[in-house]
Amino acid sequence: MHIVTKAKAIAFHAGLLVLTASPAAAQVTAIRAGRLIDPEAGTVTMNQIILIEGGRFQAIGPDVAIPPGAEVIDLSQLTVLPGLVDAHNHLALTYKAVPENNVYYLTYVLESTPLRAIQAASNGIQMLSAGFTIVRDMGNNGNYADTALRIAIEQGWIPGPMIVNSGIIIGGMGGQFWPTPEMAMDKNIVYPEYLDADTPDEIVKAVRQNALFGATVIKICVDCKPWGYSVDDIKLFIDEAGRAGLKVEGHVQTVDGARRAIEAGIWSIAHGGGLTDEMHKLMAKKGIWRAGTETPLTLVGHTTEGRYERTVAGLRNAYENNVPLTFSTDADYYIPGMTRGEVAIEFIETWKAAGIPNVDILRAMTTNGYLVSETENTRGPIRAGLAADLIAVGGNPLESIDALRDVQFVMKDGVVFKQNGVMTPEKFFHGGPVNGWNIR
Ligand SMILES: [Zn+2]
Repeated sequence: MHIVTKAKAIAFHAGLLVLTASPAAAQVTAIRAGRLIDPEAGTVTMNQIILIEGGRFQAIGPDVAIPPGAEVIDLSQLTVLPGLVDAHNHLALTYKAVPENNVYYLTYVLESTPLRAIQAASNGIQMLSAGFTIVRDMGNNGNYADTALRIAIEQGWIPGPMIVNSGIIIGGMGGQFWPTPEMAMDKNIVYPEYLDADTPDEIVKAVRQNALFGATVIKICVDCKPWGYSVDDIKLFIDEAGRAGLKVEGHVQTVDGARRAIEAGIWSIAHGGGLTDEMHKLMAKKGIWRAGTETPLTLVGHTTEGRYERTVAGLRNAYENNVPLTFSTDADYYIPGMTRGEVAIEFIETWKAAGIPNVDILRAMTTNGYLVSETENTRGPIRAGLAADLIAVGGNPLESIDALRDVQFVMKDGVVFKQNGVMTPEKFFHGGPVNGWNIR
């Protein structure tokens, strides 16, 4: 029989969020960082001490005193930097050469949502091991498996990046699919992969459904069909999402779609296919985020030489136009021999090919990732008061961005997830919701 204190009983009755730090994070940890990178400033400082308590950064500097009894972690031979952000992934979708010949249409039919949710947990762990402490999970996640993943991580059941999840992608009937009448009308085979919203009433209802079921960003198909959404439709999405405190990302694949999304004032645009020089100039003027999803040629079978050349030129053009850039992969497939995290890191190849300086690649992967995820004041920068997430690599990514391929150390919420290149996630696993049962 549990004894419930009066204060706790009141909290339960009021339905308040009860947050407790995990026991492992309660003590003081001191990290000795050989080099510490501040991506925003583009600077490196040597021999820094980073103090962590209760899962948050407490102090950072060269002369910070290490309190007696603190656990000291020696990263004096490594470069410490903030965690990475993938602004566009699909953790609960993994299409494969076998059996579905990389046709993701078939993955929905072949794999249950519970199986995909477990795959998402695994993919999240693989992303964290590669240094990604925040992932924007942008739909195609079955029946809200993305919400379940986010909550499981936040409640403290399993390790994983902080998840910003979109719930079900909202589009005109069929979403990104072209279903037969039997698939769409009689059997519901393409659902719940997409949420139909063709009229203003349906748009409002779809946004509210996603918010109710735990989405923390809204994803819409702007132009998956030739009729697509009008400027007014997109404005309605933005207004309604705004009531729930959510931003709207648009999947855009045509110039006309891009023009409408930009005119409506959308938060972010996924994919670069419709983003011409003119669109980039408009995006820069309005400060609209670009999540270009620039697949590298080295991920064989997932782009072509012609498409890759256009992708590289588009990214370069966006950079020259000062469009706010995020690192975004659209990773949603299995490449034998690679983890989901290794697939994501591989995308630096396209950024290198576009001639973007290392410091700006790193900013896209960190500073800009926090901004597009709206975590810049809670999680991301290595700054006192923020969640204690950081990674360490052997080389210096400001000199060679490929240093990010060798993440030796990962800390999330002040708890060590990976050390000496080996995952050590024991402290993240719990038999109950140690961070609170009513996180939704
Ligand atoms: Zn995508």
